[in-house]
Amino acid sequence: MARYSPSIQNLIAKLGSLPGIGGKSAQKLAFHILDMSDEDTKSLLDAISEARNLTKKCSVCYNFTDSNPCPICSDPQRDKSVLLVVESPKDVATFERMHEYKGLYHVLHGVFDPIKSRSLEDTTIAQLIDRLGKHPEIKEVIVATNQTAEGNATALFLSRMLKPSGIKVSRIASGLPMGSDIEYADDLTLASALKGRITLTDEA
Ligand SMILES: [Zn+2]
Repeated sequence: MARYSPSIQNLIAKLGSLPGIGGKSAQKLAFHILDMSDEDTKSLLDAISEARNLTKKCSVCYNFTDSNPCPICSDPQRDKSVLLVVESPKDVATFERMHEYKGLYHVLHGVFDPIKSRSLEDTTIAQLIDRLGKHPEIKEVIVATNQTAEGNATALFLSRMLKPSGIKVSRIASGLPMGSDIEYADDLTLASALKGRITLTDEA
């Protein structure tokens, strides 16, 4: 016999499929939701659908945004000669929180994974190459993908790909432990990783 009614089981399963939510947390959340007032439930559902409806990808940097181009791409104060390449919109938020970086971004929405033979088409790498071709004012691409095998493979791929163009490709490095996610780095570590970046195009 099932422990819960089918609708509750379904809610637990759906919540449990979200990243970072284990079975116990899903159960806890489900029962919390069921205990919420009608008004609170409605405002939660409204927040989800509003974010879904209003959020799009910036047509320039592919960050999530309510306006296109996004506020960062539209900001005349930003340094248009540097592009920081990150895996996810979360990483843009992490770098922005640091207030050190004044250039622009490009969000890949994934990384190149040679082992899982994950195709480059799953990312916005083609759009990045296209963007660089159209914007000769971009002189340096800083690859700030996570310090993982896939993140490093992506950095290497970009450095080889961009070497003939003369655009400098660098990789943030020092201070970030192998296997770590950018979003968990503290501001100081991130700032020094950015400052101590290593040029890849010299050796590619
Ligand atoms: Zn943008």
